[in-house]
Amino acid sequence: MVRLLFIILLGYLAGCQQTFVMESEQIVSPTAASSPVVLAGTPQSRSVPTRAATIPPAIESDPIMTLTPDRQLAGPWLSPTPSLTLTMGEQVIGQSVEGRDITVRHIGSGPRIILLVGGIHGGWEENTVALVNELITHFENTPEDILPGMSLAFVPSANPDGLIHGRVEVGRFNANGVDLNRNWGCDWSEDAIWRSQSVFAGSEPMSEPETQALARYIQDTRPVIVLFYHSSAGGVYAGECDGDHGSMIMSQILGEATGYSYGEVFTAYPVTGTAASWVDGQGIPSADVELFSWTETEFERNLNGIMRLQRWLSVE
Ligand SMILES: [Zn+2]
Repeated sequence: MVRLLFIILLGYLAGCQQTFVMESEQIVSPTAASSPVVLAGTPQSRSVPTRAATIPPAIESDPIMTLTPDRQLAGPWLSPTPSLTLTMGEQVIGQSVEGRDITVRHIGSGPRIILLVGGIHGGWEENTVALVNELITHFENTPEDILPGMSLAFVPSANPDGLIHGRVEVGRFNANGVDLNRNWGCDWSEDAIWRSQSVFAGSEPMSEPETQALARYIQDTRPVIVLFYHSSAGGVYAGECDGDHGSMIMSQILGEATGYSYGEVFTAYPVTGTAASWVDGQGIPSADVELFSWTETEFERNLNGIMRLQRWLSVE
């Protein structure tokens, strides 16, 4: 009889424990469900994580980490001669002609970095600055969207001097009057064109402090992909410098996921010295992503594209 009571008691306790676990899950689930990620396009759809408990602590409190330029050979995290200290969170990588900070925000801990650059054409394309800021907010609030092995780096405003002017032509250029997407060192020409007019490409390739800051950051961190957001030609235009270095296939994958056209050369007018082509020449797949409009951020389709590129590159 005593033994029977003991067995009943054990069963009761086990039942309590089970009830407790289920209540815990019920408490966790609504939290996770409060920030659903809805990705447009069914082929790329994925399940939404159900456990809020997997969200890591605040990015600002993460330790400083080091990367080496040649991550393939030296390994991503430790090197006897680290060339760069990357701070998680926001980092100033240089200044504009007028002394405004150019900042990068780095989210995630994986060694494969996708770098996303907005606002190289300043206030003329200020919706691209808004897009990158929206992406920063999204990935800060949804860190589970950074896939294994990946991290994301964001430069929301590559031309802060131009940005302050807003949607006027002078806002496209930096404070030296240079078109920063004609200043880079692949196919640079002093006879640079925007639409039907000549634009200043700088006194020489890579002459501008904004260009130098970005180039230094790219050379030091060696991202696996670099995208430059523009508006509003509505297409993904692969960088190309002395042959393709992966930009074409990357642009195709991105185009399919975003709905922007791809696989075409930009022919509206000749372009020289672009950032994406210089990056391609560094052996890094790169493209200009032209939004459809100059007023909207087209957030969902661009988030979809970033998730697709991550799945392409992610390693467990
Ligand atoms: Zn542009």
